[in-house]
Amino acid sequence: MSSLQLRNINKTYPNHIEAIKDFNLELGDKEFLILVGPSGCGKTTVLRMIAGLEQVTSGELILDGQCINELEPKDRNLSMVFQSNALFPHMTVFDNIAFGLKYKGYTQQQISEEVFRVAKILELENQLKRKPGELSGGQNQRVSIGRAIVRNPKILLMDEPLSSLDAKLRVQMRVEISKLHKRLENTIVYVTHDQTEALTLGTRVVVMKDGLIQQVGTPKEIYQNPSNLFVAGFIGNYPMNFLDAEVKSDGISIFLTVNQSRIQLIKEQENVLRNYVGKKITIGIRPEALFINDNNLTECNKLIGTVSLYELIGAEAYLYVDCNGNTITIRVNASDEIQTNKKIDLHFESASLHMFDKDTEERIG
Ligand code: ATP
Repeated sequence: MSSLQLRNINKTYPNHIEAIKDFNLELGDKEFLILVGPSGCGKTTVLRMIAGLEQVTSGELILDGQCINELEPKDRNLSMVFQSNALFPHMTVFDNIAFGLKYKGYTQQQISEEVFRVAKILELENQLKRKPGELSGGQNQRVSIGRAIVRNPKILLMDEPLSSLDAKLRVQMRVEISKLHKRLENTIVYVTHDQTEALTLGTRVVVMKDGLIQQVGTPKEIYQNPSNLFVAGFIGNYPMNFLDAEVKSDGISIFLTVNQSRIQLIKEQENVLRNYVGKKITIGIRPEALFINDNNLTECNKLIGTVSLYELIGAEAYLYVDCNGNTITIRVNASDEIQTNKKIDLHFESASLHMFDKDTEERIG
């Protein structure tokens, strides 16, 4: 069992950059926690502070009930896997994995047992006599994971471990890391700027921006209920579409208008918008929530635009549609052949709408 708490953590570098601001997080046992956010948001700084490679400016790091702020990295019982695998090129895979154990007073017999145990988990049994130069990128990254897990760390810290791999290998390794977490049942804190990695690997995701936590939640919560405009725009393979909408009331119901088009609302949405009547809000619609309205099904919840670009991606395609000066992205089937410059009607369900306050950029509903 291991638990880690980050309490009111701040980090200001000597150059006065405030990299982390009042960071609060509690990590449960066996969690696979992802820190995700754009470059420079402070992900690596958080990881390095947990590892003890960077001093905390203020706040407390609590591991299993004990404050570890002043504990040396080697005494924290945590292991870290880096972006570049940092293996010793002149050593065999066996020696690379065994490296950390030699200084822990293990006997040769114990070292062998541990290295074989880890090599089996990572399917490296047949590579133990080879050197890193004779292995593929993915195999080398598995060796560096092996070196980290062989010491049975309480928590495994991973800093963009897949970013140096090509796209295909990255997908393969993603699956392997996921399986590894299930087999090892240990706690992992994983840093990435790639939102796909975050959503597919994490049991919980922390979205960061400018040193601040924007949202903490399961991948599903983050995707379905982004807490603000930033998270809504950052998470998703193709970003959410944002439009200005006016909140109106006809005395019976509350509705929205976008470019003269009326958007009906479900009861919950009407309730949260009561105080916004007469004001503007930002609405968000994901590309997969928009459909081409061939049959003119309804006059509500409709946007009219002209296709400016068709982008085919294997089984699916994306259309870029100009709607009154806004470019809207919509997902369609690859089999739907749609010409550019064609005028189309787009339709969406009210329930698929995300609504944000224009000033605070926070989610309204
Ligand atoms: P990336 O995805 O690009 O690695 P990140 O989210 O991991 O970025 P950090 O590396 O933690 O971000 O950096 C956070 C902020 O702190 C940035 O503004 C960065 O320039 C600054 N920073 C990081 N390391 C140092 C340092 N050693 N000295 C001074 N400033 C630093």
